[in-house]
Amino acid sequence: MTAVEPAHVLVSGAGIAGCAAALSLAATGHTVTLIEPSTDTGKRFAGEWLHPPGVRALDRLGVAWRDLPHRPGLGFAVYPDDGLHPIVLPYPGGLTALACRHDLLLDRIRHTAAQQPKVSLLYGRRVQAGADGYPVITGPTPPNPVPTRGLWIRAEGRTAQSGPSHPRSHTLGLLLDDVELPLEDFAHVFAAGPSPVLAYAINEGQVRMTIDVPAHLRRPGKPYDLHDYRQAMPAPLLACAEAALRAGLGRWSANRSQPRSQYTTTPHAAFVGDAVGSHHPLSACGMTLALLDGECIGAHAVKTYSLIRRWAGAVPEATALTLHKILADADGRDPVRQGLFRMWRSSPSAANHSMQLLAMEENSLRRFSYTMLEILKFAIASKPRSGKALLAWTWWTLRLLYRLAAVRTNRVRGGLSRYFSRGRA
Ligand SMILES: Cc1cc2nc3c(=O)[nH]c(=O)nc-3n(C[C@H](O)[C@H](O)[C@H](O)COP(=O)(O)OP(=O)(O)OC[C@H]3O[C@@H](n4cnc5c(N)ncnc54)[C@H](O)[C@@H]3O)c2cc1C
Repeated sequence: MTAVEPAHVLVSGAGIAGCAAALSLAATGHTVTLIEPSTDTGKRFAGEWLHPPGVRALDRLGVAWRDLPHRPGLGFAVYPDDGLHPIVLPYPGGLTALACRHDLLLDRIRHTAAQQPKVSLLYGRRVQAGADGYPVITGPTPPNPVPTRGLWIRAEGRTAQSGPSHPRSHTLGLLLDDVELPLEDFAHVFAAGPSPVLAYAINEGQVRMTIDVPAHLRRPGKPYDLHDYRQAMPAPLLACAEAALRAGLGRWSANRSQPRSQYTTTPHAAFVGDAVGSHHPLSACGMTLALLDGECIGAHAVKTYSLIRRWAGAVPEATALTLHKILADADGRDPVRQGLFRMWRSSPSAANHSMQLLAMEENSLRRFSYTMLEILKFAIASKPRSGKALLAWTWWTLRLLYRLAAVRTNRVRGGLSRYFSRGRA
């Protein structure tokens, strides 16, 4: 059941979020015009690991993905900088993620949307906000007039964001052929370098590697090599990555963070996916959030959508921020980082709770706060004399929890907590 009367809706951007919105809106009786500048999905360097709630959203939206070349994702294997054995963090309850090339998945979602009788997908055009706030379509005149005074779903990705533009790091992406990872179907996080390296199989014999390269490690005018990451990953994998980089196969993407706060500007305009805000790709949550945003806007009026998604997106966002702070901002001597690894090694229940949060299967503020306290407890046990660092972490945690509580209590009232009471998206 939709909360709004069926009408015409303009969706700008046929990425994951825009297509999900188009499918969901069409399913609730709306007529949708989906506008996209580019037919070329292959140019993108974007998400390829989809957490289990995202996979379920694909199924609910009717996107057939099982025949695409892909691998299941069973969880994460973290290789810390303490020289000990890797930490294996399976998804709770045997859930699986989907690892698949972004262009293949996006082509399939676009195709599914374009097949819907109620969706018109128009390429080669852009949408911008006019002086009066209503959308203006630029490019070739559409075959049929497109109403622009109704609901406008903005799914233009990061180009719709208005935040700071200076990246703190870049992601270097490499697609590696004929290489195997130590643990089949786990995403490997190699944490012993200057910043984390993520590697997972996306097809038989094909591995996606993404390397977080802090801004100060990129020397302007010099070709990049993986010298700084030599100690971080197994030698065969490093050799393969270096060969791919030498062959010019590396792709770069700037990492910019913008809080997910802009869900709507007027009663007639809603933002979905990265247009709402985005974070460092380390936690691999962007596509899942994009799908869930898109699915939600089809079923609710703009204001309700904004309340639901602000509520539901807060804990995943806080989890992404926390992971980045511990794994990318800190170094191996950091007590919190050591505490996190120690917690994962020695407390299976805490490890399981972390995975529930990361997988977005758990959405409760209580669980998140408890996990943050556990990390602090293990950090103190790891390095009790690092008073300054522990104090800084405690202060950072308190501010984060305060902000989260504000989102959950001040801005969102009514029965939403019951709506999400089991924490399932
Ligand atoms: C390097 C990297 C790795 C990542 N890894 C992961 C991962 O493993 N897992 C994960 O879940 N997420 C990951 N992410 C994040 C994920 O890719 C994004 O969150 C997701 O693609 C967002 O989808 P979207 O549809 O909101 O935006 P986009 O994918 O950016 O799509 C926006 C669309 O809007 C179109 N557009 C732009 N301007 C206009 C306009 N004016 N008018 C009309 N259309 C317009 C664009 O052409 C594009 O098709 C990663 C991101 C990066 C950069």
